[in-house]
Amino acid sequence: MSLENKVIITAALTGAMTPKDLNPNIPLTPEEIAEDAYQCWKAGAAAVHLHMRDDKGLGTMDKEKFKKTIDLIKERKDCDVVINCTTSGDSRAGYEERMAHLEYVKPELASFDAGSFNWMPFGIFDNAPQFLDPLGRKMKELSVKPELEIFDSGFMNIVKYYVKQGVLETPCHYQFVLGVLGGMEASVKNLQFLYEMLPEGSTWSAFGLGKQHMPILYATLALGGHIRVGLEDNVYYNKGTLATNVMLVKRAARAIHEFGKEPAAPDEARQILGLKR
Ligand code: ZN
Repeated sequence: MSLENKVIITAALTGAMTPKDLNPNIPLTPEEIAEDAYQCWKAGAAAVHLHMRDDKGLGTMDKEKFKKTIDLIKERKDCDVVINCTTSGDSRAGYEERMAHLEYVKPELASFDAGSFNWMPFGIFDNAPQFLDPLGRKMKELSVKPELEIFDSGFMNIVKYYVKQGVLETPCHYQFVLGVLGGMEASVKNLQFLYEMLPEGSTWSAFGLGKQHMPILYATLALGGHIRVGLEDNVYYNKGTLATNVMLVKRAARAIHEFGKEPAAPDEARQILGLKR
């Protein structure tokens, strides 16, 4: 099957905020996160999106935790999953701290949240130009591919600006994040709207939070995008049933097969995204 028929599943295992009381299956320690990463890769995920938690379970940008987790994943010799690190894993962290791990662990991909907004009811999701400009330059220097997280349509113009400035390189890879209170609602109409704004040659993925998870997953498949699933975005499998990361990856893989495509292997994802390993 050609690469056009391959769909990248990214497993977003942990996130920065969701407490374990909401779903005890959320992995928090490096050991738990590495184990989930391995199992999700076995179930069909080509990439894992990583956040770290401190000993109280709060989001942290502690680069030693990132390193420990990634080392544990790489210890599994058969596992070649693509590593994608957050750069927004702790709202208390300063700009320097949010990018310190990139040089330290050199992930293949990392999130680049292309704008700021009120993440209700928590506070400002702060991605000011004073952060994005050095972040983009650092990623370029280290050959870490930015995954451009788009929470609202105006973010597409911020990306255009940084492409023009030479901070971001084309073709870009976009991740549409729909359903955060303060960002765009998770509707098929909004997904279509963002999709139509994509510059030619771009790659993209999308997900909807919570119960909008499935409509956005199917609509993304219909529009030819890649898929993100995981407990960072959605703690339920269906109404009343708590999910595990592996359950969500397995369902996404089945949906892709039923659609007539195949989940991409990590090396196929690298080719699709143009990653420099
Ligand atoms: Zn994240």
